Amino acid sequence: MPLDPHRLLGLAFASADALFEIDAEGRLSFAVGATAALAPGGETALIGRPWRDLIAEADRPMAEALFAGLGDGGRRGPVTVALAGQGAAQLSAFRLPQNGGRTSCALTFAPHAAAGPPASLPDRRGFEDLVKTALEAGQASRQDFEVALVEMAGLSQAVGSLPAEVGAALSRRLTGALRAESHGGAGATKLGEDRFALLRPKGAEAPEGLAARLSQMLSADGRPLDVKATARLVPLEGEASPTRVVRAIRMVLDDFIRDGAQLGAPQSLSEVLNQSIRRTLDKAGALGAAVAQRRFRLVYQPVVELKSGAVHHYEALVRFTGDESPFPLIRMAEELDLIEELDRAVIEQAARRLAQEAGGDLKIAVNVSGRTITSPAFIDGVLKLLDQPAPTAGQLMIELTESYAIDDLPQADRHLRALRDKGVQICLDDFGAGAASLDSLRRLAIDVVKIDGRYVRELQHGARESTFVRHLAHMCNELKVKSLAEMVETPEVEDAVRRAGIDFAQGWLYGQPSEQPTPPAPRGGARPAARRQGAVETWG
Ligand code: C2E
Ligand code: MG
Ligand code: MG
Repeated sequence: MPLDPHRLLGLAFASADALFEIDAEGRLSFAVGATAALAPGGETALIGRPWRDLIAEADRPMAEALFAGLGDGGRRGPVTVALAGQGAAQLSAFRLPQNGGRTSCALTFAPHAAAGPPASLPDRRGFEDLVKTALEAGQASRQDFEVALVEMAGLSQAVGSLPAEVGAALSRRLTGALRAESHGGAGATKLGEDRFALLRPKGAEAPEGLAARLSQMLSADGRPLDVKATARLVPLEGEASPTRVVRAIRMVLDDFIRDGAQLGAPQSLSEVLNQSIRRTLDKAGALGAAVAQRRFRLVYQPVVELKSGAVHHYEALVRFTGDESPFPLIRMAEELDLIEELDRAVIEQAARRLAQEAGGDLKIAVNVSGRTITSPAFIDGVLKLLDQPAPTAGQLMIELTESYAIDDLPQADRHLRALRDKGVQICLDDFGAGAASLDSLRRLAIDVVKIDGRYVRELQHGARESTFVRHLAHMCNELKVKSLAEMVETPEVEDAVRRAGIDFAQGWLYGQPSEQPTPPAPRGGARPAARRQGAVETWG
């Protein structure tokens, strides 16, 4: 059959609103279709212009990575990009072999896509939501997906050793590349300093191809970095419901964050489910027994008032074995309805510790899960505890953690008010870590906002974080809520949070969590020597 150009155009427009071609220099050499939406003057005005003019700045690194990863005969996309003018579109690219390095592109306008998707990666919870939505949509369209676990060992160290601007440019490029590799350009998340996860159409290619393309991005000022990307794929096939798959993926991500890629990702979804269910049941049994038999201890970390340098109170953190972080077990306890009993047992233990110093000035903050706070039985128990002879009201505080979204905010608010009436102060933990933070601050009776450590630790790196922290401090001030920065590790970060107007600070700079409430060792310099407990009696 002869290659009739007219017919080919018809076929191309069956799935695109506009078609254009980019030459080897990155300029538009051809444009046809609904191009008036891209530039006034349409097709003719576009010829000779750099492709970058078409796409919003935030999405250019992604488009660049998309084009850079094209081999002869290769097709990539679609990814959703914000257009430089208005709106958003799905962009796919194809490189015809022996076509002089020219790239053929198809754009389909996407009126419902959020114009200007953020140039950063969604957080983990956002990613999990995205996996679920994609799986649900995929069930209808029969599209299968996989999750790629990507590790770039040594990346954060390498970025840290670069001049700030160069490091920031590398991060932008890498973020763009990860987005370009992911479903719709939005299915990538950062799991830790050097670890990422991507949702992708299943079977696109072997993991080595992905790793090689990402490795190519790892250069600064034209020189390659001593960092290599490795990738593992977890296919999401099978009949399991999207909810169940997401649950299994959560466990896989937990394992990956903890152990990295070297342990070998599971080969199939049923293996994931089997492994995680077996492991979960084992651990759940052990965890349930540990909670029931009170086989845990509390460690205490000081929180200082920045103005005076005096300890304000101590946060109690649970430990099951050694000094290991309890976080994975806490997550599991939340999933498996064990958290309320644990939170209750922790409060009882903290109350006993306070009772040892009845009349003293020790104050302890305990973590309570967002899942527990809506339970009437839990609140009744705490209120009873506070009525007991050794008066601990005024010495006990609660940090509401949001690792589990609070499903009934009005109920949580009623419970928090009942506790506050008894003199218990309420801190909203991990502020900014989850999508629900602002809503919680707006709708709950809160005394203190604790800014998530990820923003605080990165204060030394960039203006973006410090703007964020400064504005949060300002907002807290306006709302007459105190602010607390966690994970303050260095004097520089302490200075930055103090300058931002934050009231309280916590972190390794003042002390690791320890068996007994221990005030920070005095540091040289202008800061007043820390006392075990300051003159500050209340938050407000
Ligand atoms: P969180 O409440 O945000 O606790 C702060 C975490 O940061 C603690 O981890 C602490 O050891 C760590 N940390 C403190 N200072 C620094 C620092 O300067 N740098 C860094 N990198 N980390 C620092 P931990 O003890 O592993 O606890 C993890 C999470 O587990 C807690 O986060 C909290 O959400 C949860 N958790 C801990 N104990 C309990 C508990 O008794 N009940 C409940 N529901 N959750 C708990
Ligand atoms: Mg906490
Ligand atoms: Mg926290």
